[in-house]
Amino acid sequence: MLRKGEWVWVDSGTGVPIGARVKVTDTGHQLLVDDEGKEHKLSQKEDSIRVMHPTSVEGVDDMIRLGDLNEAGLLRNLLVRHRQGIIYTYTGSVLVAVNPYQELPLYTADQVRRYHGRRLGELPPHVFAIADTCYFNMSRHNRDQCCIISGESGAGKTESTKLVLQFLAAVSGQHSWIEQQILEANPILEAFGNAKTIRNDNSSRFGKYVEIFFNKDGVIEGARLEQYLLEKSRVCHQAMEERNYHIFYCMLTGMTTEQKKNLCLGDASEFNYLKRGDCIVCDGRDDAKDYTRIRTALKILTFTETHCWEILKLLAALLHLGNVSFEGNMTWVQPASLGVSLTYRSFMTNRERVSKPLSSEQAADCRDAFVKAIYGKLFIWIVGRINSVIHKTPTNGPKYVRNSIGLLDIFGFENFASNSFEQLCINFANEQLQQFFVRHVFKLEQEEYTKEDIVWKNITFNDNTQTLDLLVGKPLNVLALIDEESHFPKGTDVTMLNKMNQVHAKCNIYIPSKNTHDMEFGIRHFAGVVYYDSRGFLEKNRDTLSSDIIKLIDTTTNKLLRQIFETQLSGAQTDGRKQVSTLSGQFRQSLDSLMKALSICQPHFIRCFKPNDNKKSMCFDRDLCIRQLRYSGMIDTIRIRKLGYPIRHTFKQFLQRYRVLLKTTVCDPKTVRHYYLEYDDDDDDDKDDRDNDISVTLQSQVRGYLARKSYKSK
Ligand code: ATP
Ligand code: MG
Repeated sequence: MLRKGEWVWVDSGTGVPIGARVKVTDTGHQLLVDDEGKEHKLSQKEDSIRVMHPTSVEGVDDMIRLGDLNEAGLLRNLLVRHRQGIIYTYTGSVLVAVNPYQELPLYTADQVRRYHGRRLGELPPHVFAIADTCYFNMSRHNRDQCCIISGESGAGKTESTKLVLQFLAAVSGQHSWIEQQILEANPILEAFGNAKTIRNDNSSRFGKYVEIFFNKDGVIEGARLEQYLLEKSRVCHQAMEERNYHIFYCMLTGMTTEQKKNLCLGDASEFNYLKRGDCIVCDGRDDAKDYTRIRTALKILTFTETHCWEILKLLAALLHLGNVSFEGNMTWVQPASLGVSLTYRSFMTNRERVSKPLSSEQAADCRDAFVKAIYGKLFIWIVGRINSVIHKTPTNGPKYVRNSIGLLDIFGFENFASNSFEQLCINFANEQLQQFFVRHVFKLEQEEYTKEDIVWKNITFNDNTQTLDLLVGKPLNVLALIDEESHFPKGTDVTMLNKMNQVHAKCNIYIPSKNTHDMEFGIRHFAGVVYYDSRGFLEKNRDTLSSDIIKLIDTTTNKLLRQIFETQLSGAQTDGRKQVSTLSGQFRQSLDSLMKALSICQPHFIRCFKPNDNKKSMCFDRDLCIRQLRYSGMIDTIRIRKLGYPIRHTFKQFLQRYRVLLKTTVCDPKTVRHYYLEYDDDDDDDKDDRDNDISVTLQSQVRGYLARKSYKSK
């Protein structure tokens, strides 16, 4: 019989039990009111009802401590804390950060001081605690650290990254010029690489890895930025209610009338490229104010007036190009002019180079390709320039000690109604990071047991190796096939898809197209099956500008334009890396070097969660959060822990709780540090192994452990 006020788990109809409380009605009947306020009758359901562990009633700082160590337990823990306004929770050493969608007084200088120099877990979970752990480990052990910040769009990755950076700058404590320059790189990156989307008013449309370098005294002395896969298509097209990159709206509201007149610019509503999403202003953003901010940042990063004007000129040119339309049968006087290059395509026949007019749609595509290429190159150039200012190679000789903390703020797993080549690249990156994460958690667990002299054997964990093999491992893997077909002049999306269907037909990770008309294929990712629409894959992957456009650029007198296309124009290699021609090739190359960099660091993980899709502060969407729990690796973390010994007590706590079960009292707390208990996994939600309701299996285990003193401290 349940007691009034008691907490239980009930079936929610979604597969993940929901918390509910026993209530007695005026007529004396018991019923259950669940976490969402829904009432459940008690009578028929009593079998499926389980009493809640006390840790799940109140919530805990570290999910690993939950008595109900399962999906429902994790989910409710986040919910309970969210209702109390607590946004941070640990799962072991991983920080889960739930976006509060409101300003919280958590990031003051006082809080920085409070968290500095404290051990992880000593204070309530906080992003500063992770930042401080990175800083401490780096300074103490001279080991490079990295912090992998993940989550879906709008979950708070970029905000968390900025908070970690802000903390590191504060504890490094110099208020130096270089520190300020590093911090000021952000507004520039966000102006050119962030935009309003339906998911996030300030969505990063590129991935970034920023390494911060410290000298032997723990003082910041430089940083280096790496960017990944800017979404170039946004420059020409935006979905409804979305905007182009912030910089365009900022410049149009922030420039002086004189400057605008000079560049023939008016309002954003006059430009096709800025109004495709039917959204010009973004509530809560002040474009004019941001423009001032961006200009200040550019100045701090030593962009000269001339640089800035050149950038504005180029951006204005892109906007004007977007307003150019094409009609059939255009004739031009000047060869190699912009008009000719956009409306004709030249190609080699057996003997000579001939020119063929393009249709008006083809010409518009050609114009967009040109614009996207310019914006993409401009972004890379800006990042390069920032790096040239903030990244100084040490000059104090070979013995010079320099440590780093890397912060990865990268797009999370994506599964939309329609998924294309970009999603494949993004999900590939996420597969790699997932493998890195799971292996790390597994390794940590193993190390813990080794340290405590506990047997850990025959434990294997199926990670996502198979999916990665399909994508990049096996011969003729998916990315290799796409590349191969991209290099093949006659290759089309159809021939590529046919090959994939043929080669991977028997692989259970690959889901071939249903029939010859179906252009989709599926991949079983760690976070679920994603169907990709193969149309446009090859063009996106080839990522080439026509030779006519390259020739056109070669005729320009605009210094900036020449500079940003330097590599294409000279065929030279700028950064010493071998140039690869395709987009996926380039992405793989930069991911490889990222993974290499991460693998030599001690990693830390911040998992950002979005509590709802409406950017609301006090609303918790269960389904959305369950999904994030699954693909953030939190469920894997508890699965790994349950394979070993999930319940941990210090010997003192253990003795206090269980000594009554023993006939003897000869246990010296000084000789033994911890007790590790097995989890009764027959039924995840079995209430048997509760501390205060100890089961027979556990009793015998306890006796066994104590009698054998299975583990002694050294
Ligand atoms: P994307 O992948 O689209 O770039 P993201 O994960 O980087 O998304 P953010 O831009 O960091 O998401 O966060 C989205 C918004 O959520 C922020 O603009 C801010 O309004 C809010 N937010 C995030 N974290 C916090 C926080 N710790 N405190 C207050 N508000 C926050
Ligand atoms: Mg972001």
